[in-house]
Amino acid sequence: MSRFWSPFVHDLVPYVPGEQPKLDNLVKLNTNESPYGPSPRVLEAIRQQVDDRLRLYPAPDADLLKQAIADFYQVTTAQVFVGNGSDEVLAHVFNGLFRHTEPILYPDITYSFYPVYCGLYGIDARPQPLADDFTLRVADYQQPNGGIIFPNPNAPTGILLGLPQIEEILQANPDSVVVVDEAYVDFGGESAIGLVDRYPNLLVTQTLSKSRSLAGLRVGLAVGHPELIEALERLKNSFNSYPLDRLAIAGAAASFADREWFDSVRQRVIDSREWLAAELIRLGFEVLPSAANFVFVRHPLHQGAKLAQGLREQRVIVRHFNKPRISEFLRITIGTEEQNQALVSALEQLLD
Ligand code: PMP
Repeated sequence: MSRFWSPFVHDLVPYVPGEQPKLDNLVKLNTNESPYGPSPRVLEAIRQQVDDRLRLYPAPDADLLKQAIADFYQVTTAQVFVGNGSDEVLAHVFNGLFRHTEPILYPDITYSFYPVYCGLYGIDARPQPLADDFTLRVADYQQPNGGIIFPNPNAPTGILLGLPQIEEILQANPDSVVVVDEAYVDFGGESAIGLVDRYPNLLVTQTLSKSRSLAGLRVGLAVGHPELIEALERLKNSFNSYPLDRLAIAGAAASFADREWFDSVRQRVIDSREWLAAELIRLGFEVLPSAANFVFVRHPLHQGAKLAQGLREQRVIVRHFNKPRISEFLRITIGTEEQNQALVSALEQLLD
């Protein structure tokens, strides 16, 4: 509490991200980063920018990056928005596309930033409980005038919703903005970006933090009807007229140009996920079907919090959420083959 604070800041409950421990030699499987580095072409493109030109402001429209995204997804640059991580993109979505006077629907058990943004902008949040098997119940998403948002695949469950179900939601809510948060879509899902030309109420957000191994660069994007993008641009420019720094624009653009690296990294993660899921099942875990770069698992005989603590004592960090319905689960990021093996060995010891 400070007398210098605006009263509204007193009431803010910010998002608490997964821990970024300072210790080395940890098997860090808690924040869904990529276990592999970015494309060498990305590193080279960033290096090329490290010179005298850092005294100059970057391109205010980040056109190089928008063009690379437009080429990758076969859309126009007027359909593309970029920001500092998809968290920033989402902040502008909640501020500028969701009407603050109307309710916003999202799954109950989802990315925990959504309620934070609702709090920030005073929006009425209406979480919709997932079904018993943790799938999203499409029929619950009826909101005549507000907004709808869900990750696909969902986080932290990893469960994917099919494009026909997404279309059902879009068709049932023609006057609401429907946001599909595709932070994890590259690990087995199909992007809804192919639907944006048919649904002016659809906005798809993505991040370069997971499948493109660039969490440290902080780049996210949105693709949708130019009218939606225009609103985001207005807002973004009212906060900071330079959307991304020079290094981020160059590095992110190079990432979209190197499809081969992108495909090989995500395939490696998918293969490792299948291996890890089978190992966890062998150890007695229930593993929810994941289309993401993590698995969400519980053991019928061992408490989630205790397992997370036991793993930590063996220097393996996973994510545990102390929340109703999911407190028995662990969310485990897919690591390198070596890290996954270390996790399995640590669990074998704990469950012994
Ligand atoms: N959406 C979801 C569902 C996420 O899990 C994350 C990562 N925490 C984000 C968005 C934000 O990712 P970033 O800001 O790194 O782009």
